Parts: sequence; structure tokens; C-alpha cells
Amino acid sequence: MLEIFEPLKRHLGNPALFFPSAPDPSGSASHPRRFEVFNPSTGELLARLPDMQAEDAAAAIDRAYAAQAEWAALTARDRSDALWGWHQLIVEHLDDLSAILTAEMGKPLAEAKSEVSHAAAYLQWYAEEANRIYGETISAPSVDRRLIVVKQPIGVVAAITPWNFPASMIARKIAPALAAGCTVVLKPAEQTPLVAAAMFALAHRAGLPEGVVNLVLASEGAAIGKEMCFNPKVRKVSFTGSTEVGRLLMRQCSEQIKKISLELGGNAPFIVFDDADVDAAVEGAIQAKFRNAGQTCVSANRIYVQAWLHDAFCAKLASRVQSLVVGDGFDPRAAIGPLIDMSALAKIERHIADAVKKGGVIHCGGRRTYEHGTFFQPTVLTGITDGMQIAREETFGPIAPVIRFDDPEQVIRDANDTIYGLAAYFYASDLKRVWRVAEALEYGMVGVNTGRMSSEAAPFGGMKQSGIGREGSRHGLDEYLEMKYVCLGGI
Ligand code: NAP
Repeated sequence: MLEIFEPLKRHLGNPALFFPSAPDPSGSASHPRRFEVFNPSTGELLARLPDMQAEDAAAAIDRAYAAQAEWAALTARDRSDALWGWHQLIVEHLDDLSAILTAEMGKPLAEAKSEVSHAAAYLQWYAEEANRIYGETISAPSVDRRLIVVKQPIGVVAAITPWNFPASMIARKIAPALAAGCTVVLKPAEQTPLVAAAMFALAHRAGLPEGVVNLVLASEGAAIGKEMCFNPKVRKVSFTGSTEVGRLLMRQCSEQIKKISLELGGNAPFIVFDDADVDAAVEGAIQAKFRNAGQTCVSANRIYVQAWLHDAFCAKLASRVQSLVVGDGFDPRAAIGPLIDMSALAKIERHIADAVKKGGVIHCGGRRTYEHGTFFQPTVLTGITDGMQIAREETFGPIAPVIRFDDPEQVIRDANDTIYGLAAYFYASDLKRVWRVAEALEYGMVGVNTGRMSSEAAPFGGMKQSGIGREGSRHGLDEYLEMKYVCLGGI
């Protein structure tokens, strides 16, 4: 059973709505092991949860498998109605869900609200899209045949999500899976299981049939992941997280040639060309770099600025960055919350130290904000070169490293010189340049004159080692559908 404590309860009108005290049907109540969830801003204990093991994951997979045929047999309209019902409850309880998210993850409450709204938008989108799964008929090469293509749900889906967007990552996977007719077993990140548990409580209240969505709460991702990859009842694994774990899951899935979608790490370039609107570019950089304290897979990781705009851009960026208030996500003034844990803080400090050692200059910020907690000042670094760690690795923190460039052709080659290919951004006004650069960047998503592009209506995903598959849009549905060719002979 899931226990929650005062530091979480005080943010909720009716905690029992999301965390009922009755034992849940997973049988986790009898599980002896527990893990704890803390508020990264205050260090307060929020909850103690059943620490489910591989056998619990196997039992959840059994329940999903038992429910699969009946769920797939429903009409698209019925599945759509179920998604609408869940969507409605999430919208109704947006404030509480956002408070749970801020408490366990730390992001400012306004950002948490925007994330929960985004999660609801995925449910809405796929409630609509469920009604639009089309097959195909093909002109046959002989007169006595008819060739038909039908789309069918892939089967039981196992999903694993990260801590940085603990609500929207769940909706982005589960909504299209349910729309397609798949049942789901989900393991959320160890640090952020509470918003997942609350969303699942609402799914059950919305009347989703028993076994259609199943939650595995656990602190040991590896054991659960193994079960998901090797259990033959699971037909598809969908993962969002680090490239390192994605690679491992892909290896594990290769044993059964299991289908897999991977949304992995990034190293996004953000290029400001000399024909850019510099004020707009600064605002875009703030969006692309400092949202979620820089802990997003699409965060601008390398900011390239053409030489003659460089100094003006850096001065304006530093001034804007210094206005960002760091603090507890429940403080309405806070624009930058804490980092998720001490190891995230240590990585940032390592990247800054490496950059400074190799000639980088701290323009503003550069330090922890308080003696306690995992808060870090938003930082602008200049004099960055491509050889520094900060330019090669995903930093995942509120640090903006600026690289000066002269040659607009070379900057494209530099931007593409990475194993990652998730998101890229650039600012320019010449239409020819806009089109050429958008085509030349080897990234799954390119933002032109904008620092924010995520939308339920658009395909989200990466090239190269940033992943396989797409989430969102009509393409996101295909990830959960099998294509079957039926050849009707003897006509
Ligand atoms: P992570 O360490 O890979 O963890 C992500 C999830 O995988 C968590 O639920 C984790 O569970 C689980 N996990 C860890 N080891 C596992 C294993 N051996 N087998 C199966 N599951 C395992 O990543 P993170 O640090 O939490 O998240 C940040 C990363 O996610 C960044 O690289 C970021 O770029 C990426 N990300 C990508 C996207 C995208 O759409 N491309 C979106 C958001 C984040 P535990 O918590 O229990 O360890």
C-alpha cells in the first residue's frame, strides 16, 4: 500500500482521491519492501511505496495480457470514449496533479501545470485519433485477387518513463497505445512515481477496464526492464530515458526480436545567424535552455552565435538569465527549481570546471545557490569550444555554453558532429538560409525562430543515437499497430 505524508498531503484537497488507502489490485500491499520519495527542494519525505520486483512486473504483464483481447475487440469509438473520460478527470484535477508533480520533481508549479495540460492534450489527441485508424486496398496484379492491408494492435506494451516529465511522458505513450487497442504496463522513474500513481487512480475512476493499464512502482529499474524485455507476453517496449539504458533495452529486446521505441538523450545545437532577430533569439534561448532547469532532452546544449552578434547576444542573455529566480517550485516567483539530485549537480560542476580549465569564462552564475539542496544558479559560459565536455555531453542543467562562430557552413558541420540527433534550433531571417539549414541539420526536430516546439500534434523523436520511432501526431499511433496484408484469392 502507498503511504503519503504531511509534506505532500498539505498540497492536496482530498489526497484519498489519488492515493486510496485500500490495498490496490496489484497485490503490492503484501509486498514487504518499500522505497521512499522525497521533495528535492526541501528534502522532506513525501511517500513510502511498495518496491515491486520482477515477479510483480510479471503479474502485471499477466493482467495486461488477460485484458488485451477484450480491449482490442472494442470499437474504436468505445476506446475513444474511455480516453475522453480519463482526459476529463485529468483536466478536472489539474491543480492537484501539478502540485504532486512539483512536490516530487521540483519544477515550478506553473511549469508543472503546463506539463499536466500537455499530458491531457495527448489523451485528447489520441481519443480523437483512435477513430482514424485506416487500412488500405491495393490494386492487385491479377484479376482474381484483392489485396487488403489492415492495422491491428500490437499487443501488450511495456513502457518505462523518466523523472524529468513524469506526467506527459506517461500520456505520450499510454494514450496512443490504448487508442490502438493495446494494453499497457508502465514503470515510472523511481524519483517521480507519485504523479503516475495519481494519474492511474484517475484512469481507474474513469472506468478503464481491469488490466488495461497497470502500474509497476519500483526502485530497481533494471530488474523490471529485464522482465519486460524477456517476457514473451510483452510485444512492444517503449522507453524514454538515457541513451545508455536505451541501448541496453534494445540489446535485451533483440533476443525475441521484440519491437521497441526509444526516446533518448540529446545534444541540441542552438544557432544564431547574423541575420537573426537578436532579442527573439535570446528569448528562444531562455525557453530552450532554462525550462525545467535545463533538464529536458531537447535542451539547447551548445549555443553557437555568429561573430558580429556574439557580444550583444551574450550581454542580453546574461542580463535575462540573471533575472531568473531560483527557488522552491511552490514559490510563485521561482523560474528555476532544484536539480533532481546531487549527482546531477556534480555533473554540472564537472562540466563547468572542465570548460574553465580549457579557457571558458563564466559570464554569470556558476555556483550552487544555497548551502543545502540541489539548487544551481542559471549560468552563461562564453569562450566555449567544441572539444570541451560541456559541448560533447548532455549537461542536463541550467548552464548556457556559448560558442562563437564565423563560418555559416562550418557551423552546420559542427552542429551535426555528435552521436545525438534529437532537437536543433536556429534563428535566421533569410528564407533561403532557413530552408537550407533546416534540411541540413541531422535532427528529428528543428525549431526555426522558436525555442519551443513540443506538441501533441507533431511527431517527437530523434535520429542517430537519440532514438527510434516517434511519439505524438498520427505517426505516434503507428508505433502500436501491426500492419497485416490480407490476400483474397479466387475472386
Ligand atoms: P534513465 O536513467 O535512463 O532512467 C529512465 C527510466 O529508465 C527510469 O524509469 C529508470 O528507472 C529506468 N531504468 C534505469 N535503468 C534501467 C534498466 N537497466 N532497465 C530498465 N529500466 C531502467 O534516464 P534519466 O536520467 O531518468 O532521464 C534522463 C534522460 O532521459 C536524459 O538522457 C534525457 O535526455 C532523456 N529523455 C529523453 C526524452 C525524449 O523524448 N527523447 C524525454 C525525456 C528524457 P529508475 O528510476 O528506477 O532507475
